[in-house]
Amino acid sequence: MPVDPATLYLRLYPDPILRQKAGDVGDVTDEVRAVAARMLELMHEAEGIGLAAPQAGVPWRMFVAYVPPIPEDDRHLGDDPMTAHDEPRVYIDPVIVEMSGDLEPYEEGCLSLPEIRGEVRRTPIVTIEATDLEGNRFRETCEGLMARCLMHEFDHLEGVLIIDRMTPMSRLKNRSRVKDLEKQAAML
Ligand code: ZN
Repeated sequence: MPVDPATLYLRLYPDPILRQKAGDVGDVTDEVRAVAARMLELMHEAEGIGLAAPQAGVPWRMFVAYVPPIPEDDRHLGDDPMTAHDEPRVYIDPVIVEMSGDLEPYEEGCLSLPEIRGEVRRTPIVTIEATDLEGNRFRETCEGLMARCLMHEFDHLEGVLIIDRMTPMSRLKNRSRVKDLEKQAAML
């Protein structure tokens, strides 16, 4: 069954698709490009910096990201390693090649977990390899918020959410909100 991009919408926790391990995409077909375009739309509508296919209800190894430059926030174009994008990017069948540096805590949120924010420890630098919309493999090394965004989105492909990775203190702080989301879903 081909995916109809028009039917895709943002999935919220505890939608079971967020807990599935996503499957390889393989060839970049028109269907894949149409789903990527819809994901970019959903990401922009929700004012996020990244969105993984499972969050749109599609169990594929694909995500989109756009971390625009903001000089005050140490996000500049042309930094090496990269800290910002000049335009949104699509990552298909991504592989994390290397993570380096000591784990650092930083407050993260997630479009699928509204009103939840907590500290997640990740490495500051990541090298990722993926396929682009033309079907070519590319590799990039990123730092700062962009590195964090790519690792966060990659987690989604494994069914991992920030509530699994949060520091114990943040987990405690968000416990009742997580329970609320579970209750809301049970009432639907
Ligand atoms: Zn997320």
